[in-house]
Amino acid sequence: MQGSLIERHGKELVTEGGFSERMTAARVEEKRRRQEPTETAAPSCPLCGGEMRLRHGKKGDFWGCQACLTCRGTREVQQQTD
Ligand SMILES: [Zn+2]
Repeated sequence: MQGSLIERHGKELVTEGGFSERMTAARVEEKRRRQEPTETAAPSCPLCGGEMRLRHGKKGDFWGCQACLTCRGTREVQQQTD
């Protein structure tokens, strides 16, 4: 069954390729974030890892995922006391 062996290796390549691409994207994002310090550092979405924006809700401010149409990730705004 050499065909299945090749197929298995092919899948590994596809998986690793996707992983390294994600790592590269994460590093670029991290680098960009360090170069451009914002007044309030936006956290990353706990669901999709995307950038979050400060939103204003009835109960106060909170972080909402930028991809809010497809992702419902939110975070509480942590008050910094320094
Ligand atoms: Zn998200």
